[in-house]
Formats: sequence, structure tokens, C-alpha cells
Amino acid sequence: MARYGMVIDETKCVGCHACRVACQNQNGLAEREFYNHLEEREYGAFPNYNREFVPVQCQHCDNPPCVKVCPTGASYKRKDGIVLVDKDRCIGCKYCIAACPYNVRIIKKEGYVEKCRFCLGFIEKGEKPACVTTCMTGVRVFGDLDDPNSEVSRLVVKQKLKQFKADLNTRPRIYYKRA
Ligand code: SF4
Ligand code: SF4
Ligand code: SF4
Repeated sequence: MARYGMVIDETKCVGCHACRVACQNQNGLAEREFYNHLEEREYGAFPNYNREFVPVQCQHCDNPPCVKVCPTGASYKRKDGIVLVDKDRCIGCKYCIAACPYNVRIIKKEGYVEKCRFCLGFIEKGEKPACVTTCMTGVRVFGDLDDPNSEVSRLVVKQKLKQFKADLNTRPRIYYKRA
């Protein structure tokens, strides 16, 4: 079985927010609801000032604290590595929001929690998530991390990519090429 993951190349991100808007459209989110967002980092001083954008969404952790704290089993991890929320079992306690170190879960007005689902409907049709296909600069590569021949696996190995906040032992399935 595939074990899905993503590579995000920060060096290619121009901060256009097209991925965020595509995600909002795909998931029917309101203007201020986000499943992915950009973190901006500024460093240096004129004339050597620089700014970088870090796209952040659910990291589909292999050791997900959101799943551990969920009292109802609503937050769970599938065998293919995708972390999901079963809205019918969610009681809206927000423990998972507090436990997630990546700030990627939101509470819906209906009272349940949601987040990035790696566009599960597209994946099941052999397609890619909306944030991947929308990005004009090719920041995001999606695929099977357990397939040594997949582009995503080759990038992780060849470029020795690291996860975001890897020291927390959440074991994310998104790998970053740092700017
Ligand atoms: Fe960055 Fe691509 Fe998203 Fe634009 S669409 S913000 S370039 S990741
Ligand atoms: Fe859970 Fe947050 Fe990890 Fe996603 S990024 S699996 S919501 S802990
Ligand atoms: Fe689980 Fe829902 Fe509570 Fe999150 S808000 S910990 S998914 S019951």
C-alpha cells in the first residue's frame, strides 16, 4: 500500500497564496478558514534584507499528537499515512487543536474539527491534491514515500530533506527544502 507524503521546496515559493485559495475552493471554506497557510520569515537588514515563505498544512504525522489526545477516536490515521477526522465522532473539544504543533486544524461552525485531507477524493482517482496542481512554480511534489522510485522519495533521499519541527518526534510526512 502507498504511504503518501509531500515535498515542499521553499526556494521556489513566491508567496502568491494560490495554493491556499485552491484549497479553500476545493473544500468549500469561508474567506477566513484555512487548511494551509504561509508562514513568512524575514531576516537580514538593508541592503541584505530577505524574506522567505513557508507553506504549512497538516503534516500527516506518523506519530500524530492530535490522534493521541482525541478522546473519541474521531482523529485517526489511515494505513496509507493520511490523518483524518471523522466528523460524526468529533465532539468539538479542541484537544487536537491544542496538541497539534503546526497550527493547522480549525473548528467548523457546525462544531467539528477539520484540516487538510490531502484532497482524498483526488488521490482515490489517481490525481494530485489541489495545492499541488495549482502551484505554478512547482513548489509541491506529492506521492508515495514508500516507493523508492517515486519523485517524492528520490527528492527526500537525494536532497537530504528534513521535516518541519522534526525535534518534536511527530515524524511528519511532509519534507521541506529550506530557502
Ligand atoms: Fe507558494 Fe506555490 Fe502556494 Fe504560490 S501556490 S504560495 S508559489 S506554494
Ligand atoms: Fe495532527 Fe497536526 Fe500532525 Fe496534522 S500536523 S497529523 S493535525 S499533529
Ligand atoms: Fe477529537 Fe474532535 Fe476533540 Fe479534536 S475536537 S480531539 S477530533 S473529538
